[in-house]
Amino acid sequence: MDTRALAAQFRGEIITPGSTEYEASRTIWNAMIDRRPAAIARCSGPADVRAAVRFAVDHGIYPAIRGGGHNAAGLAIVDDGLVIDLSEMKGIYVDPISRTAIAQMGLTWGEFDRETHLYGLATTGGLISTTGIAGLTLGGGVGWLMGQCGLVCDNTLSYDIVVASGELIRASPDEHADLFWALKGGGGNFGVVTSVTYRMYPITTVISGMVLHPLAHAREVLKFYRDFVMSGLPDELTVYAAALSTPDGHPVVALIPAWCGDNPAEGERLLDPLRKFGSPIADLISPMPYPAMQQMLDGVAPFGLRSYWKSSFLRDLPDAAVDTFVEFAESCTSPRSLAVLEHSHGAVSRVKLDATAFPTRSDPFDLVLISVWNNAAEDARHIDWTRRFYSAMRPWSAGSVYVNSLDQDDAARVPEAYGPNYAKLSVVKAAYDPDNRFRRNQNIRVQSQAAGN
Ligand SMILES: Cc1cc2nc3c(=O)[nH]c(=O)nc-3n(C[C@H](O)[C@H](O)[C@H](O)COP(=O)(O)OP(=O)(O)OC[C@H]3O[C@@H](n4cnc5c(N)ncnc54)[C@H](O)[C@@H]3O)c2cc1C
Repeated sequence: MDTRALAAQFRGEIITPGSTEYEASRTIWNAMIDRRPAAIARCSGPADVRAAVRFAVDHGIYPAIRGGGHNAAGLAIVDDGLVIDLSEMKGIYVDPISRTAIAQMGLTWGEFDRETHLYGLATTGGLISTTGIAGLTLGGGVGWLMGQCGLVCDNTLSYDIVVASGELIRASPDEHADLFWALKGGGGNFGVVTSVTYRMYPITTVISGMVLHPLAHAREVLKFYRDFVMSGLPDELTVYAAALSTPDGHPVVALIPAWCGDNPAEGERLLDPLRKFGSPIADLISPMPYPAMQQMLDGVAPFGLRSYWKSSFLRDLPDAAVDTFVEFAESCTSPRSLAVLEHSHGAVSRVKLDATAFPTRSDPFDLVLISVWNNAAEDARHIDWTRRFYSAMRPWSAGSVYVNSLDQDDAARVPEAYGPNYAKLSVVKAAYDPDNRFRRNQNIRVQSQAAGN
């Protein structure tokens, strides 16, 4: 790819296969993805993004877009093509008066939280601090605060975006309202987002951590978990459960609460039954600063390992579903793998299904199977376990999935991620990206594109 025309108007760096930074720059979270772009345009700001998009359009290129590089399906990197890389765009401006933050799309959640915590503010963000805010926000964004504050996309007030025409525009309730709606969950389908304005909340200290039980007790623990979360939790309390292994290799089931209210005594009271149930081998629950909670699981998902995902929302979790979940947890093929049950309720479920592009708001559990391992020779074994686990849980599937949990082989499930909102998303896609310039994503198609591309 001849990038001289781009270099002439670019302030950032253009990294090509000869550059010393090339190998590091094409590496993303999932080591299964080993792609070799022809050029990585590492943007310094919105003007560079606009130059890169115009270059792509002029040269008939379908670029990939990189934020934090965390997407399991490897959407941020493309073989032989152009990557528009925003990872150096880390500007953030926090306004404590209006309780808003304007953030550029190269930030990770850890970097975002670090700055907003300084002002005593937080908003819903991802569970791993190294995940990019870009892809997570654009997919909808689930996290610990969603009972209290809603999804990440429920708290976005505007998006600055370079669309396929090469224009930098703002999408908000007052400008390009159709695009604003679509960006709330529609992923990278509509252009390159340069910054987002977030609504922030006065949350500084939370009560979180985990209670660990031996996997041998998983059936009772998970049935208790189901009954506990379905008993009508207050918005301030969100609880996930996961089957995983401790760092020294012991398989456990973890109950992981996050309480974000402003009366700690009430939080302790609510968490008491969770801590007292059964005979836990460890109780790590305590008050902590919000950013500490956001980093507490980082160790389970480091960069550079191989990973394969399968996921589905569940409409309920009867005893038979728990039994199936535990059977597969017991036959897990890698000590690094995780099977997670994410319960959602409260603010997230009070937003109308068609108010944003993200439609799945009433199914109580999200099953997220994350296989993680190190050795390429073992790929088939771990992938097979993940697929069999997912298939066995199908009887309880709600027939919907979070778009950011789709893996490389899940392209056919994109309509499942958007349900009744897919048709409207196709209309917005046709308006802002009629040639499907932005197709290196979980792609939303318009009728005329379905046959040709
Ligand atoms: C370990 C782990 C934990 C996770 N935990 C959570 C969680 O708690 N909550 C949750 O909601 N999700 C979670 N996810 C999923 C996460 O939301 C997605 O992986 C998301 O794509 C990551 O964003 P990124 O910017 O790092 O991705 P990247 O890989 O950089 O980008 C992914 C895709 O997003 C789009 N994109 C990125 N930047 C832009 C941009 N500036 N403009 C337009 N499109 C863009 C593009 O389509 C791109 O291909 C997790 C993922 C991992 C691997």
